[in-house]
Amino acid sequence: MSLQQNISLKPYNSFGIEARAAQLLTLEHTRELSALGKSLTAAGDRLVLGGGSNILFTRDVETTVILNRLMGISQVKESPDHVWLKVAAGENWHRFVLHTIAAGLSGIENLSLIPGCVGAAPMQNIGAYGVEVKDTIEEVEGWHWDEQRFTILTNEECRFGYRESIFKQELKNKVLITAVTFRLNKQAQLNTSYGAIREQLAKMGVAEPSVRDVSDAVIAIRSSKLPDPAQIGNAGSFFKNPAIPSSQFLALKERFPELPSYPAPDGRVKIPAGWLIEQCGWKGYREGDAGVHALQALVLVNYGNATGAQIWQLSRKILDSVSEKFGVALEREVNIW
Ligand code: FAD
Ligand code: NAP
Repeated sequence: MSLQQNISLKPYNSFGIEARAAQLLTLEHTRELSALGKSLTAAGDRLVLGGGSNILFTRDVETTVILNRLMGISQVKESPDHVWLKVAAGENWHRFVLHTIAAGLSGIENLSLIPGCVGAAPMQNIGAYGVEVKDTIEEVEGWHWDEQRFTILTNEECRFGYRESIFKQELKNKVLITAVTFRLNKQAQLNTSYGAIREQLAKMGVAEPSVRDVSDAVIAIRSSKLPDPAQIGNAGSFFKNPAIPSSQFLALKERFPELPSYPAPDGRVKIPAGWLIEQCGWKGYREGDAGVHALQALVLVNYGNATGAQIWQLSRKILDSVSEKFGVALEREVNIW
């Protein structure tokens, strides 16, 4: 465990926002959590960070930022069809995906190239190209700050939903995720339902894709469409895609026949937030150093020296204009500090 005082968080968030932390504690071993004793038990005392790729700092952190750098991958179980891997929360997500592919396992290849750490994956049940991480999670282990003990949540107890989990709700800031156990398939079970994946595989000349082909296709699509945080600050999709009641969808579809849609659970209809934002004229918009990405309206960007408050204000204006034009209330996906 190392402790530094008065540290800039700019290198620790993919938006590249300047904010300061009173203390930065780098966590490398789970035993350090019990050693911390009751020193960080009040929720306001701490903020846990993995890769900082899903957070917007709108102010300084007056207390302690805990940088999760718990490392290690181990096989805990094997059956004829599956392998269970327990992965420490500080492992880089994409490196872990590549590790599973190299081991001949399938299940998370569609989630290639998502930035961040393994410990944050259950937080919002990361998802992309028709796959959600919840379908491979067996259990999540964490340190419960109030109870001062390690706890294990089964998949069901995590209450996963669309970009949602118990860790963003009841257990928000109460549990530091220390490890995640994944159940992966020995036989490839590919999901190429997304048009973009099928098109990319065709472009690659692949008729019968392997797990690695699907991963390569996802990497190629993402690299061509999404801004690389190393080049331009962003936190991926800033808003969630709303799932609206079908009656509301039908009324909207009458007014806007081009409105794209996808089936969602409970008879609702998912509509792409990026399309709604684009129709309101925001795509490529720039206000100082805060902007909306020119290729993907769902991604807000920092061209250099935007403040978190400026990005937040821009997101407020976008929410208001989408609500006014479509009567749809967008929800922010990015965590706001
Ligand atoms: P952080 O930003 O460090 O933390 C996010 C939240 O989780 C914070 O509230 C933090 O306090 C909390 N947290 C982090 N670690 C822990 C822990 N160990 N215990 C308890 N709480 C914790 N997301 C998707 O779902 N799908 C995508 O396809 C996708 N694409 C992206 C593309 C780009 C270019 C970018 C920049 C982001 C993208 N994201 C995507 C968002 C982001 O990468 C994921 O949400 C990722 O899981 C965040 O990981 P992180 O370690 O960076 O989390
Ligand atoms: P896209 O292909 O332009 O599609 C726009 C939206 O339509 C997506 O968000 C997706 O919803 C939905 N969609 C498209 N095809 C679908 C299908 N066959 N079935 C169901 N829903 C479909 O999206 P994109 O922006 O390039 O992103 C591609 C994928 O990467 C998406 O899954 C997206 O969620 C993920 N991604 C996430 C983030 C993030 O930060 N959360 C950032 C970048 C990319 P879903 O989002 O529900 O899949």
